[in-house]
Amino acid sequence: MKSIMKTERVYGGIQVVEVEPPVLKADEVLVEIHHASICGSDIHAYQFAPTHHYIQTPVIMGHEAAGRVAEIGSAVTNFDKGDRVVIEAILYCGKCENCLQGKTHLCDDFQVRGMVKDGVFTELVAVSTKYLHKIPSSLSYERACLAEPLAVASHAVLDQSRVRAGDVVLVTGPGPIGLLVAQMVKAVGAEPIVVGIESDEQVRLPVARELGCKTINVSLQSIPEVLKAWHGKETVSHVIECSGAASVFQACLAVTAKGGSITLVGLFSKMVEGDLTSAIRKEISIFSSCAYDWMNMERAIKLLAQNKMKTEGLVSYYKPEEAINAFEDAIAKKVSKPVFVFKQ
Ligand SMILES: [Zn+2]
Ligand SMILES: [Zn+2]
Repeated sequence: MKSIMKTERVYGGIQVVEVEPPVLKADEVLVEIHHASICGSDIHAYQFAPTHHYIQTPVIMGHEAAGRVAEIGSAVTNFDKGDRVVIEAILYCGKCENCLQGKTHLCDDFQVRGMVKDGVFTELVAVSTKYLHKIPSSLSYERACLAEPLAVASHAVLDQSRVRAGDVVLVTGPGPIGLLVAQMVKAVGAEPIVVGIESDEQVRLPVARELGCKTINVSLQSIPEVLKAWHGKETVSHVIECSGAASVFQACLAVTAKGGSITLVGLFSKMVEGDLTSAIRKEISIFSSCAYDWMNMERAIKLLAQNKMKTEGLVSYYKPEEAINAFEDAIAKKVSKPVFVFKQ
């Protein structure tokens, strides 16, 4: 079966190869992958960024996918051949204290699929049923593979942030997670303002505007000045930081109103500096959000199925053979989120 494999621990270092299909264990099902999307963390693995030196090669990449159950293991009772599914990205033990509390995203044995163990950029994947969610027939595979990144946005906005209906919320970083976070902010009845830089004007900020969000390009505009013109004040109640750019943190502190909050989602690749004394004097609450749990994935599927989340403009389709182009286009910000079509 055709697979996108990271074969060398260097920048790039990927190949499209033929490998043997997996052998199914009793509690697993075989999922025939239809659509699989590239996540920011796959890009870090592709680039062999310092945050991802823990990856092992050779490994089949990828963790965002939608497909159809092609075969079930002998002990499986809750899934059938033909079920349409999406797959959770986080591998967890199910036995540690956090897992037992349902916080599987904080598992002591936390692992992202496709980094150390084989992932989903392939034709067939053997998956334990605990990682699967059924999707309705009304939800296309094209849209369903976005349930995984949307679950990340769901956890950040609904569980971790203090965003409430009527709030103005600054979303820094217009990458795929930022754009899904902005839509989740809209879904709860708050107003997102998406912040990016000049290179984001190629695709990401225009997509944000198509999705119905106001945008600020900080290469040309000052955030406080734009906020003042729109809302009469230079601050917002909440910031959700999705860029992962260390230099953005101080700007987030400066623009957050007294009593407001910042929720950190983007992974910083450098140490972060910020004036925490002013944060204390303003009583700013700082939260963080990592991955998601089972319920966030269910919410994401429902929001996609109910058409509450727009995905047009967010995705661009590639054949698996075009893997290098897909990664390079995403790095050059020519496309927002590449999606591999393994099967129509
Ligand atoms: Zn992801
Ligand atoms: Zn665990």
